[in-house]
Amino acid sequence: MATLYFHIPFCQRICSYCDFYKVGALSLLYNVVEEMHCELDKRKDYLASQHITSIYFGGGTPSLVQPSEIERFISHARGLFDCSAVEEITLEANPDDLTEEYVKELAKTSVNRVSLGIQSFDDGALEMMNRRHTAAEAKEAVARLKRYGIDNISIDIIFGIAGYGGETLLNTLNEAIKLDVGHISAYHLTIEERTKLGLMTQRGEYTPISDEESEREYMVVHEALKAAGYEHYEVSNYAKEGCRARHNSAYWQGVEYLGIGPGAHSFSRDNRTWCISSAKEYAEGVVKYESEELSSLDHMNEYVMTSLRRVEGIDLGFIEERFGAKHAMRIKDAAREWIEAGVVYVEGSRLAIRPERFLVSDAVIEAFFA
Ligand code: SF4
Repeated sequence: MATLYFHIPFCQRICSYCDFYKVGALSLLYNVVEEMHCELDKRKDYLASQHITSIYFGGGTPSLVQPSEIERFISHARGLFDCSAVEEITLEANPDDLTEEYVKELAKTSVNRVSLGIQSFDDGALEMMNRRHTAAEAKEAVARLKRYGIDNISIDIIFGIAGYGGETLLNTLNEAIKLDVGHISAYHLTIEERTKLGLMTQRGEYTPISDEESEREYMVVHEALKAAGYEHYEVSNYAKEGCRARHNSAYWQGVEYLGIGPGAHSFSRDNRTWCISSAKEYAEGVVKYESEELSSLDHMNEYVMTSLRRVEGIDLGFIEERFGAKHAMRIKDAAREWIEAGVVYVEGSRLAIRPERFLVSDAVIEAFFA
């Protein structure tokens, strides 16, 4: 069992908070897409399993690629791997790319899930984040997808934006809930040094919200989405019944994946590989990688990290069986103070973080690391 990831690192406009690898030179897009097909052929044997369960187009902005080209990637993958069990094919999209024509064509492809970067339903917040769309365009994009029968939709929202909490955040949550989509990802705004927002913060033009305010907003999001019937199943992810993201869930469960495109990461057996070529080099066929071999300890820490971010938590029985009794004991000891603090709870052999306390998951994960 494995998953496939296609990385389209192009963006028409750079969001003020974004630290991902992306480029604005859309003239390279055609050549990058062609080179991605070559890379897919060359790396088809990277995966131990040829049995693919999900395909994901991420970025950047994959909706800058025409639906017919998205379908060409999917057909190509079908020719190389066993895709008979693929249940989910997701396309990340920006709302303003989803024109009538685009969605009409997208509905003819095998894509069956769209993940929309909406971020806020407040035009002021969208402008501050330098997003390309308005709140009205985002709502129309969701309605249009549904009109064409694409109703497996996820939306991203961002909270923790100074000056846009309180009523503005409540309004964004209400609008998100009204859209009645199956999946919502809610991220706390992070200020990365090399971004426009990072620069504004250094110059004193932007003041991030306090930790107390972050906690308050986190709980507002958690309570509102829970009350609306969403399960808080991962630190930043909420789903209605049967709507958990299959591709991301596979990633969190340590399923191997092949990533294609400049900047894409891959993982198989004891190896992690990432493409370090710039889009420009990549477009010219210069595709370079870096990789690392993963030790048993790396695997265990990865398991601890991804599991503690999910509502299922870690299974001490599995840790004992796979990594040894001493690690299960060590984690049990480390868990004591977190259990007393009401952050972690025990259920059978499982240790999990209460969803309302996910905000401190990084500290718990660090305490549980070998
Ligand atoms: S569209 Fe996405 S990848 Fe592109 S700049 Fe904005 S947040 Fe970053």
